[in-house]
Amino acid sequence: MNSRKIIYAGNVPIGGGFPVVIQSMTNTNTNDSSATLKQIKQIHERGAQLVRVSYPDKSCRTSFKKIIDNSPCPVIADIHFDYKLAVDAIELGAHKVRINPGNMPKKHLEEIIKAAKERNIPLRIGVNSGSLEKDLLKKHGHPSEDALAESMKRAVGFFEDKDFSQLVLSVKSSDVLSMIKVNMMIKKMFDYPIHLGVTEAGGLLRGSVKNSIGIASLLMKNVGDTIRVSLSDSPLYEVDVAKMILRAIHINTNSPDIISCPTCSRTTFDVIATQKTIEKMLEKSTKNVKVAVMGCVVNGPGEAREADFGITGNANEGIVFKKDKIIFRGLKEDALKVLMKEVNDYEKET
Ligand code: SF4
Repeated sequence: MNSRKIIYAGNVPIGGGFPVVIQSMTNTNTNDSSATLKQIKQIHERGAQLVRVSYPDKSCRTSFKKIIDNSPCPVIADIHFDYKLAVDAIELGAHKVRINPGNMPKKHLEEIIKAAKERNIPLRIGVNSGSLEKDLLKKHGHPSEDALAESMKRAVGFFEDKDFSQLVLSVKSSDVLSMIKVNMMIKKMFDYPIHLGVTEAGGLLRGSVKNSIGIASLLMKNVGDTIRVSLSDSPLYEVDVAKMILRAIHINTNSPDIISCPTCSRTTFDVIATQKTIEKMLEKSTKNVKVAVMGCVVNGPGEAREADFGITGNANEGIVFKKDKIIFRGLKEDALKVLMKEVNDYEKET
């Protein structure tokens, strides 16, 4: 969306004004191609356009090849330290390779560039506190934003000197403010697509908060072209949170929005359980539909009039509304069925 330069990971464009690309990473054993392919399929169906898979050693070679050949979406090979694995992943057909240049000697990087040129695939080059060159660490005293940006400048300069420009840049930090600051610096310095994410962000709740703040702050400033929400939890949640971030800031509305009241002493309807049920029912939906779950009849429909559909109720009955007009009043167990039918019909029509 935000860089002028565009690169392609397989058939997926990154940058150049194209929509922000969601990606996630498998956490299965790469040696287990069945389990990995199953998870890739789930990640892709959930809404990610790209998936990253570790290629930790040559024992995974056969399995990794099978994964690339059978994946429903382009595969990014995740490589650390060993350039031979990067070259091999490229030869096996990986659609993009992620490396940290600071962890590899220049002559090894040259081999990766050569292979990437031959296969015409992009490289994501990453900089983080762990890959910072020793002299930069000494100069700046700690992995500051300036140090990380200088490290990226060196890396980009090296690749450009070798006439390689199919780059996606990524500067990671586990500190949200630092991640925001350094990516804004990188955006001013280069016009390559930028990969956003808060690294080592924590579990589902804390990690979602950190990633949402970091990623959304930058996207709203037109910084960032592909995102990965990093969580110590299922990669499917990573995709869910990524979709919710893009939905919340109106960058991509190809997913539902479910609004629900926080409940209070007036609540006469099981808002929390109903909200969870609807979230589950709509988890793969790609439609721009807003569904409200409200706790009381008195305030609910009025407060949720922005929604396309809504559900509320009282001790005796369930109520379904469309915009702010009541279209069903009856048994609570029937109300959810009526709501879902209305939403499904709406999805088919739009
Ligand atoms: S919609 Fe009703 S139950 Fe929900 S918070 Fe508002 S007043 Fe309370």
